[in-house]
Amino acid sequence: MSIEFSDRLKALPPYLFKELDRVRDEVKARGVDVIDLGVGDPDRPTPAFVVRALAEAAADPANHQYPVYSGMNAFREVVARWYRRRHGVDLVPDLEVCSLIGSKEGLANFPLAFVNPGDVVLCPEPAYPVYRSGTLFAGGEAVFMPLLERNGFLPDLRAVPEGKLARAKIVWVNYPNNPTGAAASLEFYYELLAFAEKWDLIACSDAAYSEVTPRPKPHPSILEVPGAKARAVEFHSLSKTFNMTGWRIGWAAGNETLIRGLGLVKSNVDSGVFQAVQLAAMKALESDHADVAAMGRLYGERREILCRALDRAGIGYLHTDYTFYVWARVPRGLDSKGFCSKLLNDAGVVSTPGVGFGPSGEGYVRFALVQEVPRLKEAAERIASLKF
Ligand SMILES: *Cc1c(COP(=O)(O)O)cnc(C)c1O
Repeated sequence: MSIEFSDRLKALPPYLFKELDRVRDEVKARGVDVIDLGVGDPDRPTPAFVVRALAEAAADPANHQYPVYSGMNAFREVVARWYRRRHGVDLVPDLEVCSLIGSKEGLANFPLAFVNPGDVVLCPEPAYPVYRSGTLFAGGEAVFMPLLERNGFLPDLRAVPEGKLARAKIVWVNYPNNPTGAAASLEFYYELLAFAEKWDLIACSDAAYSEVTPRPKPHPSILEVPGAKARAVEFHSLSKTFNMTGWRIGWAAGNETLIRGLGLVKSNVDSGVFQAVQLAAMKALESDHADVAAMGRLYGERREILCRALDRAGIGYLHTDYTFYVWARVPRGLDSKGFCSKLLNDAGVVSTPGVGFGPSGEGYVRFALVQEVPRLKEAAERIASLKF
């Protein structure tokens, strides 16, 4: 019997990091003390009070049965209160909020609710790959909006071909941005929503990193724009904010019809988030965010250490206060994969080639600030002593 993958699986781009993973393992096997700044996964544990809340809730049989796919009423109320407190945005919990099994799940499922075969979905690149794969799975056509340094790594909305816009259904944005660390202003969201209105698009914002900053206030939300709820939905996650990547909890919030469509897909493919996880997430969201602020400051300190080393090595990078990534320029004479190989072979430091996030990532590498200060200092020293 010959077993063939579906066309939609075959249409996915090859996994560009495979070769790099292989080289990393090879270098490790040689006995090199490898420092991994590759993965976008917080190194610190989830705050202890959240873990305790999970343990308590897990012991309660009331939480052992199927949850509702859209989330407990109490969870959605907490999310609405959180939006009010952090962003001054009002949401109707049972209509405008839906829980997600990690925001990735929502990003991937959302197009299934709104994209017909042949519809265009505008996706940034370089980017988290899910906007594109979710589009492909729904039979849509991903049209890329390059994020370029000269535009502050914001999409140039005027550069999107009108022929594509006529068939476009969704526009995706992600700020604070992975992989570049770039931020967007509230004015950008105003422009984006005006553009979306002009072309009758759904505006989707992935705000997974809005709280990952040493600044006292979060990054603005698209929902802060008056009238945004006419066509916008924002995807959020506890993964990066509370060091909870393994827990799988997030939410979508915004336009009622968009939330209902996503919920319809979800009610057919999943059965919601373990209630004990929802209850623990509620404790996290209702907390004073002291841990979140401390993590933001810690990432700021780590950023400083790596960036000083990059300065000494003559390597440029994007100055930012957001995310835990450093988006660095590849030195002259190398491409992004070549620079990553050099960092690995000559410094024992793992980074991610920008081109792995899309063609406009060529010429850059991404460092993730997910090692403790002494390890990061060691990595920084090794990078600073490289010769180009
Ligand atoms: C980490 C990340 C997420 C969050 O994923 P979860 O599924 O919530 O863990 C979403 N978007 C981007 C761009 C990310 O980097």
